[in-house]
Amino acid sequence: MELGRTQAYLGRCQVDDVRRCRERFGGVTLQGLGGLKIAKALARAGDLTGVDLDPATYRARPAKASNQLALPGMDIAPFDWIAAQAELGLPVVRTPGTRIRVGRVEELRAELDRDYPVDVTVMLALDAGWLGPRHIGTLEHELKVADRDVSLSFAAPVNPLDTRRRIDGLRRLLRWAADSRRGLELLRVDLSGLPAVIEGASVIAIGLGPSTRRVSVPLATRGAARAKPSPFVFVPRLLDWQRANVIGGLSNWNGAGLTYCDCAVCADAGQDLLRFDRPQDPKVAEEIRRHDELALSGVIRQIMSSDNPEAELKFRRVNAVQRAKAVSSSLNVELTAPPAWLDSWD
Ligand SMILES: [Zn+2]
Repeated sequence: MELGRTQAYLGRCQVDDVRRCRERFGGVTLQGLGGLKIAKALARAGDLTGVDLDPATYRARPAKASNQLALPGMDIAPFDWIAAQAELGLPVVRTPGTRIRVGRVEELRAELDRDYPVDVTVMLALDAGWLGPRHIGTLEHELKVADRDVSLSFAAPVNPLDTRRRIDGLRRLLRWAADSRRGLELLRVDLSGLPAVIEGASVIAIGLGPSTRRVSVPLATRGAARAKPSPFVFVPRLLDWQRANVIGGLSNWNGAGLTYCDCAVCADAGQDLLRFDRPQDPKVAEEIRRHDELALSGVIRQIMSSDNPEAELKFRRVNAVQRAKAVSSSLNVELTAPPAWLDSWD
């Protein structure tokens, strides 16, 4: 089976970011109206290859949050995302998409049934509960009946794929796509997109920032507002992100074998992620961003271009889980637990 495409999902960004990430990741998915503006700029320069768009209208809040000036009671025609993407000649035209709460079958069906003047991929932003045992059968059935190409994003407060059962649910959808020869794209994923693309996803778009690795759902905040948390840093040996201050907790053990990074940004700075545990300033944040992009694209390339991506990924994820568990059990450092896909995708 031919592998699908792996690319980067960018939120707010500039044209130069798109060019750089396209080079590093092989392609870029842009988000929303800001993304459309950048796509148009690239199109004017005749430089739109490897770029597509997620209208991401599922992120819009109801009514009031519209940015457009409106008279009370006046309807505004919804922006025509289909025409906008078709006119640009993008390789895939995605429907605007709407967030579908778990169990709302009528809404799901309505999205899947709608007719469009051109070939589209139907964008569905689904609550992660759809992947659980209670709802996955319904979801799979509706996809079968509709028989269309789909783009999926999953909504959750932290990690949509946080249990083995949800991973099993996603794998059922991947099997449906492979069996029916339908395109199944996963937008806004973390590295759990890699086993998915190995198993039949047509496109995965991995988010470069925490808010672009899922459709975020606000967590109920308890008590007083907390201080701004330490930023996330991609840790290649864990195939996951950890907060800089948590990584810093490993300094007594010289990083405990977890904090080495040989990306070009780190190579110039001692190859150790421990350096990111510093009082927050924009320079540190910018260096983390540059490290994340290089280290992440490097890891993806090493895995996906190896002779056997599946075996290579398996080797690395077993290793990542073992390292994380060893550190958590023997040292007094509270690493974020390894995400479920690392040891449940088997
Ligand atoms: Zn690095």
